[in-house]
Amino acid sequence: MRNPLIMRNNSQPQNEYYQEALMRLGQDSVFTKTRSYNGKLGAIYKKESTEFRLWSPTASQVELLLYDDWYGDIHYSFVMQFDEDLQVFRYGLEGDQHGTTYAYRLTFLTGEQVITNDPYAKAATVNGHRSVVVDLEQTKPEGWGARMSPWETPDKTVIYESHVRDLTVSKSSNIQHKGKFIGLTETGRVNDSGSPAGLDYLVDLGITHVELLPVFDYATVDETQQPPSAYNWGYDPYNYNVPEGSYSSNPFDPFARITEFKELIKAMHKKGLRVIMDVVYNHVYEVENHAFHKTAPGYYFRYNDKGHLTNSTGVGNDTASERSMMRKYIVDSVVYWASEYHVDGFRFDLMGIHDIDTMNAVREALNEIDSSILLFGEGWNLYTPLSNDVRAANQNNAKFMPGIGQFNDGLREAVKGNDFEITAKGYVNGAWHMESQVVQNFMGGVDFGNYNDPLQLIQYIEAHDNFTLYDKLVASSPGTSIITIERQHMLATTIIMLAQGVPFLHAGQEFMRTKNGVRDSYNKPDEINQIDWNRQEDYRQSVNLVRDLIKLRHSEPLLRLKTHEEIRQTMNAVRQDYQIVHLTYDSPEYELILIINAQMNTLNVPLFPDEYIVLLKDHEVFLDETNTVEITDTISIEFISTLLLKRYK
Ligand code: CA
Repeated sequence: MRNPLIMRNNSQPQNEYYQEALMRLGQDSVFTKTRSYNGKLGAIYKKESTEFRLWSPTASQVELLLYDDWYGDIHYSFVMQFDEDLQVFRYGLEGDQHGTTYAYRLTFLTGEQVITNDPYAKAATVNGHRSVVVDLEQTKPEGWGARMSPWETPDKTVIYESHVRDLTVSKSSNIQHKGKFIGLTETGRVNDSGSPAGLDYLVDLGITHVELLPVFDYATVDETQQPPSAYNWGYDPYNYNVPEGSYSSNPFDPFARITEFKELIKAMHKKGLRVIMDVVYNHVYEVENHAFHKTAPGYYFRYNDKGHLTNSTGVGNDTASERSMMRKYIVDSVVYWASEYHVDGFRFDLMGIHDIDTMNAVREALNEIDSSILLFGEGWNLYTPLSNDVRAANQNNAKFMPGIGQFNDGLREAVKGNDFEITAKGYVNGAWHMESQVVQNFMGGVDFGNYNDPLQLIQYIEAHDNFTLYDKLVASSPGTSIITIERQHMLATTIIMLAQGVPFLHAGQEFMRTKNGVRDSYNKPDEINQIDWNRQEDYRQSVNLVRDLIKLRHSEPLLRLKTHEEIRQTMNAVRQDYQIVHLTYDSPEYELILIINAQMNTLNVPLFPDEYIVLLKDHEVFLDETNTVEITDTISIEFISTLLLKRYK
């Protein structure tokens, strides 16, 4: 994600309490030992009483503020007690506090006061400014049961990256609750030609995991406007543990969004689909307005030696995952979503900002709930001010993070060309000498040395912040016929779907989604971002190809090997030159022959004379092993297409 939010002006002098805190927190190791806390935080609800706990290492006084109601005035303020043993401020309220609206007022040694929402809030008023006590039992939709049973076949994972609003808002979706969580619970929705749209479409396609762009509360869409007057992907975090209000049918009701997001998860689970959350702990929208900064100034973010916020994320601030209470926050938050909402996976935005100990702590904590919960992220190698003894959670260090996947931009770049330049070419659209890069990545990074196993590689060709493949192919080859573009598109997607690792599709990729050449569409209107469900009619061949490739992948174990050792023993690159890749897969009973022809010409390839089963030919999959071909000397492969054969020994 590269969401160019407003850059904060770091040259402004910081206020006094901030400076004071920064100095005091200069030596985190000393500080951590004396001031850290490892228990529950936030409003700890019980039917008979609620206890509020806030960690603020430098406040001299904290008051609990209670409002008349969700949108009323401040009615009470109570001075919280500082617990020397726990190192937290505490206050208890008798009675059932479900629905009580609260905030904190902190006073610092300088006399400065701030009012803030609770960083650990689980419910919030519209736009997230006030926190609300919630009895989570009351937010469970009817029929809310246990988590789905563990995902026993991680090698069968197929991820589909999408956005609540994009999937539900277009007229062609015929979805009733447009732009809402519950829009994705609607079944029986069809496009204007009667083909499935929304939830039913996702089920038909056969993907296993739906990855949703941020669904926690983010800052830049005004929730009081219905329908919203703005659009955003959501990489502008505000309340990390509260669902986003603009996706709720009633953003003013703090509980509706909680129940409705659970309704979405319940509906997907009922259909066998699992849900991955895109989580963004690497930065916040505005430091000075965020509860992290207000409750522990100088603590949760990284600073340079001049005391200015560092900016490795490119959005003006970087959180400091290496600090114990930030690490705890990330772990607590992920555990909360997994246990309370039954979320099945987490995609860490700009994971390379974090440190490996934090990511391993997340993995370990999730394992306590269900070790099959997916965990992966953007391990870009970003400059961070981490000291030399702290390893960043980037691709280079993947082997130190077992069970944590990495987006593999290596395959993306090899297949379609540099993503930052729309005109750059790759293997499928005319670049030469890309074959070995395709093969190395296609074979699950077996020779790279930084991965433990192929399942650590998230294999993809386009994601939300890339040019769509279609837009890139059109722009990089002016004058090319649409037939060629479509063949290049299907070839690229086929490579992703057959690669060793975890295939990842960007929503609508299977019907050649276009965003009209806009790459960073994070705040562009629906016209750019929405899924046009009618487009599947125009690209039916490609939709069928993707659907059938998923089935083929699921039925053919050699296409989803689990270890590098298996890949070494099974796969062999026969040829990788002149835009041709020829691979074999060898097992005791049979072999597979895969030939990828990116040339503009039909190719004739000599093969051992025998009868072969055709599994994939000219962008069509044959699933039942009844399509056979007798080869006497050579077989031809159509221009820009793939051939996959099977031969029993
Ligand atoms: Ca929001």
